[in-house]
Amino acid sequence: MKALLCPGEGVQLVDRPEPRAGAGEVVLAVRSAGICNTDLELARGYMGFRGVLGHEFVGDVVEGPGGSRPPAKWAGRRVAAEINCACRGCPVCSQGHGNHCPTRTVLGILGRDGALAERIAVPLSTLHALPDALEDEQAVFVEPLAAALHAFDEVELARKDRVLLLGDGKLGLLIGLALADRRDQVARALAVGRHREKLAILAARGLEVALEQEFDEPAGFDLVIEATGSPHGLTSALKAVRPLGTLVLKSTYAGDASVDLAPIVVNELRVVGSRCGDFPRAIAALARGQVDPRPLISERFSLEDAERAFARAGEPGVIKVLVDPLRAG
Ligand SMILES: [Zn+2]
Ligand SMILES: [Zn+2]
Repeated sequence: MKALLCPGEGVQLVDRPEPRAGAGEVVLAVRSAGICNTDLELARGYMGFRGVLGHEFVGDVVEGPGGSRPPAKWAGRRVAAEINCACRGCPVCSQGHGNHCPTRTVLGILGRDGALAERIAVPLSTLHALPDALEDEQAVFVEPLAAALHAFDEVELARKDRVLLLGDGKLGLLIGLALADRRDQVARALAVGRHREKLAILAARGLEVALEQEFDEPAGFDLVIEATGSPHGLTSALKAVRPLGTLVLKSTYAGDASVDLAPIVVNELRVVGSRCGDFPRAIAALARGQVDPRPLISERFSLEDAERAFARAGEPGVIKVLVDPLRAG
């Protein structure tokens, strides 16, 4: 089958054997997969990953262990799959924190092939059936939307709160759409980014927006969500949050950040790291139309064109690029 491989750095469209499902696993035929900023970072050496990229996707359950029929409950179902494959037996897993299992593998990120391919093998325990009403182009956002919604999990929004979102990239915009859905719960919700056309997507959903270069009131926010994907965003976020305020960090990137951490101590900030989120909630938010990510789709490619798709995903102004293995090349 065709697959987009990260051989350590960069990407390569390769032919490789179809995956086989191990015990407790199934093989999915990928319908559509999104390219995320993490994929771009992995191709720059983040995590030292070698393997098939891709962790945002929708697929059909086609095969059980060793080429057998999949369990009846799942055969032929269209699904989204969680990306963290936990051991389900260690103390961390027993406490319900499988996303932090020390021996986990992560689809297309850590020790396990991803979804920018015709087929992918995943544990049964990661599957979530999708409602028929959801289009593939919505369902492909389940994973990143789950991560976006998770930004609000460790914070309690209050009516008086002024909330600032930094970053209008792929994840930033999804968080922005989720913030727009919560607009009535807070006093102010502002998104700051670098791209007028991207911010316009959030403005259309009722969010106040500002260009970074024109943003001149950078302090006093109760909650700041940093999703710029760059170390400089953390510096801006530390300036923008009020003393005793909360900072949620969503960015991951290859390389080290050099940041003055004194404001965290001096202003007694609460800093919350935030990664993956709850799939059922994301599926429900999509199904109810609370978040419509479709304006974020910039372009769609066949799997044959995955290298071009990957290059495109890293170009300025481009938001979400989808790769559709069922699409003719
Ligand atoms: Zn991602
Ligand atoms: Zn575990």
